[in-house]
Amino acid sequence: MESKAAARERFDSARDELIALSHRIHANPELGFEEEKASTWLCESLDSVGFTVEKGICDLPTAFRARAGSGPLHIAICAEYDCLPDIGHACGHNIIAASAVGAAVATAKVADDLGLTISVIGTPAEEVGNASGKILMLERGAFDGVHAAMMVHPAPFDMLRAKLIAASMFEVHCTGKEAHAAAFPELGINAADALTIAQTAIGLLRQHILSSDRIHGIITNGGAAPNVIPAHTSAKYVVRSETLDRLAELRPRVYRCFEAGGLATGATVEIIGGDKPYAEMNHDEDIAALYRKNSEDLGRPFPKMGEWESRPTGSTDMGNVSRAMPSIHPMIGINSLPAANHQPEFTAHCITPDADKALIDGAIAMAWTCIDLATHPAVRDRLIAHP
Ligand SMILES: [Zn+2]
Ligand SMILES: [Zn+2]
Repeated sequence: MESKAAARERFDSARDELIALSHRIHANPELGFEEEKASTWLCESLDSVGFTVEKGICDLPTAFRARAGSGPLHIAICAEYDCLPDIGHACGHNIIAASAVGAAVATAKVADDLGLTISVIGTPAEEVGNASGKILMLERGAFDGVHAAMMVHPAPFDMLRAKLIAASMFEVHCTGKEAHAAAFPELGINAADALTIAQTAIGLLRQHILSSDRIHGIITNGGAAPNVIPAHTSAKYVVRSETLDRLAELRPRVYRCFEAGGLATGATVEIIGGDKPYAEMNHDEDIAALYRKNSEDLGRPFPKMGEWESRPTGSTDMGNVSRAMPSIHPMIGINSLPAANHQPEFTAHCITPDADKALIDGAIAMAWTCIDLATHPAVRDRLIAHP
C-alpha cells in the first residue's frame, strides 16, 4: 500500500533523530508538570518539520498541541514525558514521547491525501495519579474536535489490550500537638499514631475487598524527631478498582480508615485530592484490531496474555481519554524481564536497542493505523460520526 510505504520512508528519514530525542529525554528526567526541557524539545522537533505548534496550552506550561494536515478526520497521538521521583524514566515515557512524534511525522506525509488531520497532544504528569495532564486537558478543551486517540506505552512484553484499571491518588495530612516524648507525653497528640491506626485499619480492610482492588501508599512525613511527639504527619495513597464506579465505592472506605486514626488519637485528619481520578481504559475494538495487524506486519506479534488477561497492569489517564473518544493504549515490549516498569532496572532498559526498536515499531504501527482509520470507510464513518 503506497501510503504506508510513504509514511514508513518519512519515518526512516527521521529515525536517528527520534532515537536521539528519546535518549536525551531519558538523560534529563523531569517530574510531572515540570517537564520544561522535554516539552520544549518535542515542540522544536515538531515545529522543525512543519507542524503548527502551541505550547503551554490549557494553563499548563509543559502541555502542548502540534497539528499537521487539514482533513476532516482528526486523530491525536498522545505524548507523555514525565519521570518518577528518584528512579528517572522507569516507566519509559521517553519512548512514548519519541514514538508519538515519529508516528505523527510519518502520518503527516500522507495526511492531506487521505483527508486526515494529525495532532500530537503533549500531556504532562501522567504519573501523578490525580488531576493529571490528560484529565485537565480534557476539561479544558485540548481534545475538542478529535475523533480518535492513541499512544503506545513500553512494558516488558507486548500487550494489545492491557487491563488498565481506575485509580485515585490523595494526600492525607494529620495534625496533633508536640510534646516532650519522655517528660510530658500526656500533653501531646500523636499525629504519627493516627497514620499507624489508618494503616492497621487498611490492612484489615484488605480481607473485604476484591482481588483486583489495590490500596498502596507511602508516609511522606512521619515526624521530625524521636523525642518530640509528632504534631504533623502526612501520607500519599492510591486506591484502584476495576472501574470508576467500583472505585467510588471503595475510596470512602479507605478514607474512613484515616478518619479512624484521627478519632482514636484526637489528631485532625485532612484528605486532599482524589477528586479527579483516572478512569479504566476502554480499548476500541476496531482500532485495536487494525493496530494488531500492523504490529504483526512489522514482525511484532502479541503473545498469549495468560494470567495478564485478568491481572491489572496499572492505571493511566488515557482511560479518561478513552471515555471521551475511541482510543487505544497498546503496551510495546522492550524485552526487559525480569525488570518491569517502576524499577530502576527498567530505567536502564529504556535506552537499549530493544527500547529503540519499540520506539520505531510503535511509531510505524501507529502511523499505519492512522492510515487504516482514514481509508477503511466503515471505521472512518463511525469515527467522524462520533460527536
Ligand atoms: Zn508509570
Ligand atoms: Zn507510564
